[in-house]
Amino acid sequence: MKIKSGRTGRARHRWVRNRRVQAARSAAQLQHKASRLKHCDTCHKPTNGACVQRFSFSKKQQDSHLIKVECLNCDQQSRMTAYRKTKRLDNQIMLAAAFFVNDEKSLLEPWMQDDWRAEQRADMRKRIAKQAEYAADYREVAAAEEEIHRAIKIMAREVWSKWLQSYYRKSTGRGHAANVNGIEVLVWGCAGRVVMTINGKQGEDLSVIFDETSEEPRAGRQGIHATKDQAIKLLELVTAGSTDFQAAIKPSDSVSML
Ligand SMILES: [Zn+2]
Repeated sequence: MKIKSGRTGRARHRWVRNRRVQAARSAAQLQHKASRLKHCDTCHKPTNGACVQRFSFSKKQQDSHLIKVECLNCDQQSRMTAYRKTKRLDNQIMLAAAFFVNDEKSLLEPWMQDDWRAEQRADMRKRIAKQAEYAADYREVAAAEEEIHRAIKIMAREVWSKWLQSYYRKSTGRGHAANVNGIEVLVWGCAGRVVMTINGKQGEDLSVIFDETSEEPRAGRQGIHATKDQAIKLLELVTAGSTDFQAAIKPSDSVSML
């Protein structure tokens, strides 16, 4: 590869050398980063290629800095420790809870008792045993998921079906926003799916995904950073303020997927 620099003589020589130094430095950084991912910062066991990385982001330098590498077990442990303190839900916790509770339920199903499913049952028991310390939390989270889902269904009926679906389908822009009494609703759609994010006043948020064309409202939870009570409150506020949000919503170019 040829480098066009427009420089000549000594300046060019220095420039090329600097480029080489920079390239070597970033290669070393990459290598350092790759070796950092090999072991968990908490339990120091090998991560075997599966780990969670936490970054701090410096706005000033527009750069992120790797602050912690954890194996999946330690990551789950820190998540659950935080959950016990704050009861704040996130997608990972809810997914883990859904799998756990599903295993527990499936094990009791009559069709699961067939002889040829013995191996499957053994796998499920192994998975359950491995996470037994979180069993009570997972059951609590799964129950929260059901409650949140009920509130989503009510909101979908009152907001999505009553006006948001037709509003969205008539609009030409993808992004829309409404703010009513400090509760922000952002709507963005693509490929037949429309995502509504509700941002609360304390940094809590909940995202709901809708099927754009379905006549029966089809809605589900997409993302969450909130306690169960906060999430339900957000849904109730949007449901109760449906006409206010309808009046406030307008296209917004700044709304996008992330
Ligand atoms: Zn670990």
